[in-house]
Amino acid sequence: MCGIIGAVSQRNITKILLNGLLHLEYRGYDSAGLAVVDEHSHINRIRCLGKVQKLVDAANRENLIGVVGLAHTRWATHGIPSEINAHPHISEYIIVVHNGVIENHDQIRKKLISYGYSFSSETDTEVIAHLLNMKQKQYGGSLLQAVLKSIPEISGSFGMVVMDSRKSSTIIAVRIGNPLVIGCGMGENFVASDQLALLSIANSFIHLEEGDIAEISCNKIAIFNVMGDIVNRNKVKLNIHHDHISKGIYKHYMQKEIYEQPIAIKNTLLGRCTNKEIDLSELGINIGMFLKKVKHIQIIACGTSYNSGMVSRYWFESLANIPCDVEIASEFRYRKLQVRKDSLLIALSQSGETADTLAALRLSKKLNYIGSLAICNVLYSSIVRESDLYLITKSGIEIGVASTKTFSTQLTVLLMLVIKLGSLNGMHIEVQRKIIKAIQMLPYRIEQVLTKDKIIEKIASDFFDKNHALFLGRGDHYPIAMEGALKLKEISYIHAEAYAAGELKHGPLALVDNNMPVIVIAPNNQLLKKLKCNIEEVRTRGGLLYIFTDQNVEFRKNDDYNMKIIQLPYVEDVIAPIFYTIPLQLLSYYVALIKSRDIDQPRNLAKSVTVE
Ligand code: GLU
Repeated sequence: MCGIIGAVSQRNITKILLNGLLHLEYRGYDSAGLAVVDEHSHINRIRCLGKVQKLVDAANRENLIGVVGLAHTRWATHGIPSEINAHPHISEYIIVVHNGVIENHDQIRKKLISYGYSFSSETDTEVIAHLLNMKQKQYGGSLLQAVLKSIPEISGSFGMVVMDSRKSSTIIAVRIGNPLVIGCGMGENFVASDQLALLSIANSFIHLEEGDIAEISCNKIAIFNVMGDIVNRNKVKLNIHHDHISKGIYKHYMQKEIYEQPIAIKNTLLGRCTNKEIDLSELGINIGMFLKKVKHIQIIACGTSYNSGMVSRYWFESLANIPCDVEIASEFRYRKLQVRKDSLLIALSQSGETADTLAALRLSKKLNYIGSLAICNVLYSSIVRESDLYLITKSGIEIGVASTKTFSTQLTVLLMLVIKLGSLNGMHIEVQRKIIKAIQMLPYRIEQVLTKDKIIEKIASDFFDKNHALFLGRGDHYPIAMEGALKLKEISYIHAEAYAAGELKHGPLALVDNNMPVIVIAPNNQLLKKLKCNIEEVRTRGGLLYIFTDQNVEFRKNDDYNMKIIQLPYVEDVIAPIFYTIPLQLLSYYVALIKSRDIDQPRNLAKSVTVE
């Protein structure tokens, strides 16, 4: 969370910093700030409560000029979102922007106060600025020396960029726990939390690794470890352009990303799914032998990724005959675990930077897993780099905070893995072919279901005055109900909960009255009969039913005002969970739209959850 950008150049970099910050806003958007230093070492800082655009307007009014500078868009962890808590924080000539949490900030603050430092904000970050200032005064060395002396005293996670206004030819970037990438330009260099911020100004990139400290000036980049020894990092060229990240004809990124799902899935299948088999040879030539040893799958994930893991559990167990457990990464990392024999750990994350998933992955290295596999959307991310194996979802960049296309492509990758493991575990060739055929149909099936857009938009208006909603599903559609509820609460702020439909009578039925929308995911599968009984339970209590089902399914005559049936086209059983996700995404989108919510940047949230 939080977006950082820093620049060192010989031209005015104010506009570059602001443009970059606009591309990072998905990471945090409660306040923003910028500090630039001109040729006379004069610091110009502006900070604003609210979105980056407010900062841009303020900077334009003030006509700020500087050749070196730092900017930040915040997702507050310590101290309310406010102008004084916004970054950059300054201690005399030291300027700091920070992503993460300083766990021992109280202790450091007390010490600094006893040395005469005073604090102007409530943030944990301000302690870094004063600590660097103190170290520099104590040791009289360079800023790099002050950074190296300070790091052992700070615990927590910090992606940070710092500078000394008196030496305005250098900035220093530290990656401990939170990602940073350097963008290399011609006679100027940049650093940011995500390369998205640097695409228009840099032509190659260096992804800092855990523990790296980079001293960046216009013509030189030197990278050290925490001991101060030089380390070498590769430069890479990336083939992403800003036109890939515009909204195009769509009103919101989320809407665009919902519509991009057929192509995202096509790209994810490309080269991996042929008519006959699933080809995961990208995992290495001996992958077959390795996967044959796998007798258990342990999935760790957060949020939407957790829901996709939950769907895959049904697939791993019923199709590949492999026991599978799925756990929320923040729980997994803090309990005493019993590792199953020959267990493969799968880390699911959109960004590949999710702090809890990354920590759980690191923990798993000390345990007895036979290996780790990352399924992520970002190639150079920490989770990908730190896993033994990885499969990339080829969704393209996802900007909307509420994940959509990365959910469906994660499921696509997971289903391919299920077939691969199944084939090694004796899954009949005909069954494999049947599932492969279904997966190949997936992009087309999704195009079909997207044609129901207008019907769903109409239904969404029923939710305008609702404060609560229940989502019901059974089997592999129970996690789809969970995902539907998560999407609705995330972007419309309606309280929504998902239940396995059989659980209804064990509690949630008490909530059902004629003001409670109950959304039922009812594909035409073997559990439909059971689900129909649950639907009757809601109906007899006056609940407002919205049933997403197959066009060939019949329900008891639809003459009640409180039962709406959304008929969807045919879909193969195995891919139905992916297919049924789409109308639920559209429903949340349209409900949020009529409620005038900030759809791409819902309140209190941010994408790429890099704090614990
Ligand atoms: N902990 C810092 C703060 O609350 C940084 C939060 C962030 O990563 O945006 O200001």
